[in-house]
Amino acid sequence: MIEDMLRTPSAVRDAEKYTAHNYHPLPVVISSAEGAWLTDVDGKRYLDCLAGYSALNFGHRHPQLIAAAHAQLDRLTLTSRAFIHDQFADFCRELAELCGKDLVLPMNTGAEAVETGIKVARKWGYQVKGVTPGQANIVVAEGNFHGRTTTIVSFSTDEDARADFGPYTPGFTVVPYGDLDALTAAIDENTVAVLLEPIQGEQGVVVPPEGYLPGVRQVCTERNVLFIADEIQSGLGRTGRTFACDHEGVVPDMYLLGKALGGGIVPVSAVAANAEVLGVLKPGQHGSTFGGNPLACAVAIEVVRLLATGEFQRRSAELGERLRAGLEALLGKGLVGVRVRGLWAGLDIDPALMSGREACERLMERGILAKDTHGSTIRLAPPLVITEEEIDQAVAQLAEVLAA
Ligand SMILES: *Cc1c(COP(=O)(O)O)cnc(C)c1O
Repeated sequence: MIEDMLRTPSAVRDAEKYTAHNYHPLPVVISSAEGAWLTDVDGKRYLDCLAGYSALNFGHRHPQLIAAAHAQLDRLTLTSRAFIHDQFADFCRELAELCGKDLVLPMNTGAEAVETGIKVARKWGYQVKGVTPGQANIVVAEGNFHGRTTTIVSFSTDEDARADFGPYTPGFTVVPYGDLDALTAAIDENTVAVLLEPIQGEQGVVVPPEGYLPGVRQVCTERNVLFIADEIQSGLGRTGRTFACDHEGVVPDMYLLGKALGGGIVPVSAVAANAEVLGVLKPGQHGSTFGGNPLACAVAIEVVRLLATGEFQRRSAELGERLRAGLEALLGKGLVGVRVRGLWAGLDIDPALMSGREACERLMERGILAKDTHGSTIRLAPPLVITEEEIDQAVAQLAEVLAA
C-alpha cells in the first residue's frame, strides 16, 4: 500500500496535536475490536497483549457484557445514589459474595477506590482502633502504583509520577516491597493500614517472595492494622485465581477492585470489606455521583457472574503455563528476566539489545500490541479469551524481535 493512502499517519498527528502529552502511545490508531483482536483505521489487525492494563480481562466486547450494557442503556443509566435503582443490590450482593466480604462500596476509577480505602482506614483507625487524632499512618511499598491523585502520588516512589506535584499528603511510610522485617518495623501504634499490591503490575509484574503476603497478614492481625490489597490490576482472574492473594491463601481486610470490574465498557471500581470496617462510613461522609450507577452495575453484575463460573481463572492458569514455557525458553536469547503469574508476564529485555519501547514498536510492526513499563521491561497481559495458538504467535513474534 502506498504510504500516502494510509489513514494512520494523519490520525496519529491529529491525536498528538489536540491533547496534553501525558501519554506516549504507540503510533497505532484503533477503530474496532473483538475478543483478543484489534483493527486499526487502515484495516490492519493486531493481537492485544495489554488488554487495557487488565481492564479487558474478558476480551473486547464480550457478548454477555455488551448485551447487558445495551439492555441497560434502553432502560435506565443514572439515578445518583440519592435514589436506589434496581441493579444496585444485585451488584453489591454478588460482588460481596465473590469477595467473601459483608459489604461493597462502589466507585468509578481505581484511584477513587484507593482514596476510599485510605479514608475508610483512617476513620476506622480513629473510631475503632483509637489512634491519636490526626496521627494515623499507612505503610506502603516502594515501587507501588495506586493511581494518580495528589494524595496517591504523595507516596509514589516514581519521580515521573510524583515530582512537582507537591505539597504532598502526609501520613504514609514507604518500605521496600517484599521485606517483611522492614514492614513490621514501620508499624507503630498509630498505623491504621498496610496498603500493598499483591503483585506490583506497573513495576513490571513483580511477585513478592513466597511467604511475604501471609507474613503481612499475620503482622496486621497481631498489631490490629488493616491489610488493604490493591487488586485493581492483579485481581478478577488475571493471575489464574480470582485474586492474586488467593495464591498464598491470604484474605486481606479490604479488597480494592477496578479495571476489569467494568468489563472494558464503563469505569467501575469498588472497595469490599466487612461491616466492622466499611460500617464506619455514615451518610454524607463519602460518595460519588456516578459510583454504582445503573449502567455500571448492570455490566459489573455480568462481570461477577463470568468470574463466578471459574472459567476465566482456569483459562488464565492453564494458558499462563504455556506462556511461561514460551517466555522462559527466551531467557538468554534476548530476555534476562521473566516473571509470570497466570496470563500476566513481566519481561526484562537485555538492555544492550533495545529498550522496552523499541521492542514494543517492533512488535507492533509484527501485529502484536504490548506496552513497556520501566526501561527495558515490557508487560504482557492479553485478554483471558486468548487461545493457545495466539499465545504461541505472540511468543514467536517476540522471539524474532529479540533475534533481529
Ligand atoms: C490502574 C491501577 C490503579 C488506578 O486505577 P485508575 O482507574 O487508573 O485510577 C490503582 N492501582 C493499581 C494496582 C492499578 O493497576
